Amino acid sequence: MTMASTMIVNVRLFDGTALTSSTTVGISDELITTVGGPPPGNTLEGTVDGNGGVLLPGLIDAHVHVDDEDQLQAFLAHGITTVLDMANQKPEITRSLRELPGLPQVFGAGLPASAPGGAHTTKMGFPLGSAVKDGADARRFVAARVRDHADFIKIIVEDPRMPGTKALPADTIAALVQASHSAGLLTVAHAVTSTAVGLAAEAGVDVITHAPMNRSITPGEAVALAARGAALVPTLTMLRGTAGIINARSMFRLLRRLNIAPPVHYENARQSVAVARAAGLAVAAGTDSNSEVGAPWHPRFGSSLHDELELLVDAGLSPAEAIAAATATPARIFGLTDRGAIAPGLRADLLLIRGDPTAEISAARTPAGIWIGGQRVL
Ligand SMILES: [Zn+2]
Repeated sequence: MTMASTMIVNVRLFDGTALTSSTTVGISDELITTVGGPPPGNTLEGTVDGNGGVLLPGLIDAHVHVDDEDQLQAFLAHGITTVLDMANQKPEITRSLRELPGLPQVFGAGLPASAPGGAHTTKMGFPLGSAVKDGADARRFVAARVRDHADFIKIIVEDPRMPGTKALPADTIAALVQASHSAGLLTVAHAVTSTAVGLAAEAGVDVITHAPMNRSITPGEAVALAARGAALVPTLTMLRGTAGIINARSMFRLLRRLNIAPPVHYENARQSVAVARAAGLAVAAGTDSNSEVGAPWHPRFGSSLHDELELLVDAGLSPAEAIAAATATPARIFGLTDRGAIAPGLRADLLLIRGDPTAEISAARTPAGIWIGGQRVL
């Protein structure tokens, strides 16, 4: 048996639902090697006294758009050790940011599937190959993402009723899901209206990101999604910011008065989280942090995940459920079996918190210690 190179003593662990009694955690190289048991008899050079604090698994932001190492550094400074990139104009950027030692690990979609002539390829700088024409083209698109080493497939599901919006039709979305599943890849749908959520759900999409702002998801929709193991990444931080911007636009107010555009209310997104929770639909924390010029809102890299946790609690999750939404839940949904919990054999991505984040979620904002892959960075 190898001696743990670091032993954290006198800490309570978040076990996915609650805190354990005071215990010890051993780390060797990049892995957690021991949990529990007596502290070492000899005073190891690498002993860290947790002073009765709380140890959390490193946090996961399940919806970001990351472009450089400075942004990864900002995530890490706020205790985020894994980020899921939900589309990048340049898949080679996502690839270059993967597995940089001492920085959060990046998993990504690369190019997203969008409607031909839609905003992604005409305004947001995505290459034409990002547009998907029909079912056959869906197979072409997924094969290209497999060649790009995408970790999951992102699908932009727009609402065909939105004026001036090009939307992927239902059969193309279904073909994308089928091709992704054949390739062993999970699908994630961008959806911000109830019609878009309905289209994504109908096509069998695995993860819905954002939430409808024209009305809350219904208990029936949430139960149906939960029954087939789907999940919601609501990005409340992004939606709260976006709703304010959209409602301030005079063109949008005119379209609303004419009843052409559906309403945009943050409260509906917030309510969708409460409905998901009651239905047992998994909720994961994601911020949509981005530096895109055309994006309506720019949640801050790193600190916004703590805003998101607080908004999830405001929407009805307990603080412990919010922590699970940024650790165990996204790890399970996205098949990241080596992280999201504190157990022997898992990556030593850890946060030491002085207060009790299961009582007061904001305590997680100011970690007293951060380890990534066994390396202490704070
Ligand atoms: Zn996004």
